Amino acid sequence: MDVAIIGAGIAGLTAAFELTRRGLDCEVLEKSRALGGRMATRRHDDCAFDHGAQFFTVRTPEFAAFLADVGLADDLVALAAPVVEYPFKTISEAIAAAREEVSAATATGRPLPYRYNFRNGMTTLAKRVAVAIGEERIVRECFVDALEWNAATREWTIHTRGDNTTLGGTRTAKHVVLALPAPQAAQLLERSRPLPGAFEDLIEGLKRVTFDPCVMFAWSSGEDMHFPGVGALRVTDPTHSVTWLAWVDRLVPGRIPEGQSVMLAQFSPNVSRTLFDQPEATVFRVAATVLSQALEIELPTVRWIEVKQWRYANPVVHFDAPDALIGPAEYGIHPCGDYFVRGRVEAAFESGRAAALRLAARF
Ligand SMILES: Cc1cc2nc3c(=O)[nH]c(=O)nc-3n(C[C@H](O)[C@H](O)[C@H](O)COP(=O)(O)OP(=O)(O)OC[C@H]3O[C@@H](n4cnc5c(N)ncnc54)[C@H](O)[C@@H]3O)c2cc1C
Repeated sequence: MDVAIIGAGIAGLTAAFELTRRGLDCEVLEKSRALGGRMATRRHDDCAFDHGAQFFTVRTPEFAAFLADVGLADDLVALAAPVVEYPFKTISEAIAAAREEVSAATATGRPLPYRYNFRNGMTTLAKRVAVAIGEERIVRECFVDALEWNAATREWTIHTRGDNTTLGGTRTAKHVVLALPAPQAAQLLERSRPLPGAFEDLIEGLKRVTFDPCVMFAWSSGEDMHFPGVGALRVTDPTHSVTWLAWVDRLVPGRIPEGQSVMLAQFSPNVSRTLFDQPEATVFRVAATVLSQALEIELPTVRWIEVKQWRYANPVVHFDAPDALIGPAEYGIHPCGDYFVRGRVEAAFESGRAAALRLAARF
């Protein structure tokens, strides 16, 4: 195999797409069953909601072209209700300001500059890229344990756990794209010792990258009339316990059956740290208190709740050692991911594409 890509988030899948279309033999190894990484859609009863990224922007012609190339140009759904900044003076002023922001962004003339999702959720993108590159090139439930350098053949042996039906295995590749969050990439390289020279600086650079965690809480109830006309609150006060509160059915209509309402809250990094690994009942209790005290939202009788914990949600200290990539690239190791740019879907795309183009230039 020419290239093994570790991680089927948007960075890894973009790299796989760009390399495959240039005729390279690639395989994507993903530890989870689902594709898309932090672009994740969850289903409960007949409701679909995103428990990672909530929307994406299309600011560059490259991302617009990519969406068209994988056949999604006509499937983008602009968020149907405004995302307002909170706290605000009055709800009507906040909605007007949010609408103005959308018009200003749309007027820039860039391809499709504002906030989008897909009718069936964020994982639509990963599923479509998988079809475009060929499902057979993706191995799910395949945790990459370690890499081993073979100096004689100048190839990597990739040791995996899982691998769908077997207990693990090995495969070889000339190049490896590390498309997993920096802390996990550093851990993987450390498990891969001994490595050839030139990796120390890369590992140290990856370890300096830090991510905030995020605990997310979704619940379903009957009709919800809080904050009428608002699609989501984006909380700008850094001391607030919640950073994002969304009405899923208002943002992307058609995802939730009539008569139900699904809401979703993301806790701030500090609260997420305290809630991490806590039982659902604790998260529920904290959510009820926070929503009631800070936002005056009383949790009604809920039909179900879902809690999702992201250890590596959002990069806060980005990768700062571009020179440390040079030596490992000579050995065929190419890291990428949102932490090279910023914690955004479009940034992860940009990084995955850049890594693929650099790698393809070596063939
Ligand atoms: C709660 C939340 C809300 C967000 N909201 C937004 C938003 O509204 N808009 C926006 O643009 N962005 C948002 N983001 C950020 C956005 O989701 C990310 O920037 C982007 O999806 C990162 O993509 P990636 O490919 O770099 O990494 P990831 O999506 O993290 O992909 C990495 C993949 O590697 C896999 N992996 C890890 N270790 C191994 C291993 N050892 N072996 C095999 N596979 C492995 C993981 O399972 C994962 O699939 C949000 C993120 C979170 C968590």
